Amino acid sequence: MQLYNKLSAKERETLLEQAGEERLTLSFYQYAKIGNPHLFRNHLFIAWHEQDVLGRIYVAHEGINAQLSVPAKRFKEFKEFLDGIYFLKNVRLNIAIEQDLKSFLKLKVKVRDKIVADGLNDETFDVTNKGIHVDASKFNELIEDPNVVLVDMRNHYESEIGHFKNAVTPDVDTFRDSLDIIEEDLKDHKEDKKLVMYCTGGIRCEKASAYYKHKGFKNVFQLEGGIIEYARQVENQGLENKFIGKNFVFDHRRGERITEDVISHCHQCGEPCDTHTNCANEACHLLFIQCPKCEAAMENCCSEECIEIIHLPEEEQKRLRQGIPNSNKIFKKGRSEKLKFKK
Ligand SMILES: [Zn+2]
Ligand SMILES: [Zn+2]
Repeated sequence: MQLYNKLSAKERETLLEQAGEERLTLSFYQYAKIGNPHLFRNHLFIAWHEQDVLGRIYVAHEGINAQLSVPAKRFKEFKEFLDGIYFLKNVRLNIAIEQDLKSFLKLKVKVRDKIVADGLNDETFDVTNKGIHVDASKFNELIEDPNVVLVDMRNHYESEIGHFKNAVTPDVDTFRDSLDIIEEDLKDHKEDKKLVMYCTGGIRCEKASAYYKHKGFKNVFQLEGGIIEYARQVENQGLENKFIGKNFVFDHRRGERITEDVISHCHQCGEPCDTHTNCANEACHLLFIQCPKCEAAMENCCSEECIEIIHLPEEEQKRLRQGIPNSNKIFKKGRSEKLKFKK
């Protein structure tokens, strides 16, 4: 029985192109008690491998967090499979607006300690004591209330390219940091202000809202399904769209355009731009915003040093990388002294 991938990403890409079939990009999550995450992981892998599902899925004792692409013609089968798992029956599926055949190239189902690396000690508070969930229409109404503080629960590189009008966007690298900053900012208003929060797909707010209630906030609201679901409801119900720019997403597209506004700048020349890229130097891989002109001039690199490195023979590059831990740990995501226009 096959429990892991055998094809490389390149091989998958070719296969997908040849098959040319329509796929749906979607995500879902659920906090639930999972007794044996490894067994559950194998159950998912076997079923989804058979259904030609691709994506990145995390399973933990606390639940599941999944980002997937499903062949459109097998969606019904996929849905029936989910409904057959008691804690996933009728789970809300966030379906991406822009569909992309190649949003994922492999099926990866991983067992983790947590479904979101949130840095929180769950023993200290009740994660099921969540905030009030609001849909797009209610959310639009709520954020016009002068007594509301609207908080973006995402990281700096996400809110930089798009956020709700008038939202507080903490300049943080991690979810854990934003929790503390917001609590400090609002410490005198735990009872009188309404705290309204949002994130990409809603999962971070599930934890954050419970955390703030535990910390004494009396009026906590969260955007159900996050920006992804908001954008869908706004479109389907013809509501006013109060989000500006792009929604950062974690597949290879890196951003889903919500409005035509470009609110950020190329980190190298300062021109308006909201396209994220990863530095072409394998040993760097810095996530940053780069315009097409700089992409050409800098060969998709973040710095002169990285350009020099990518011109070295592959063997030499490999030798340089040896002993250097995972590049994500060298740079804080999306920050580097070398980027002139990164605030
Ligand atoms: Zn530029
Ligand atoms: Zn670089």
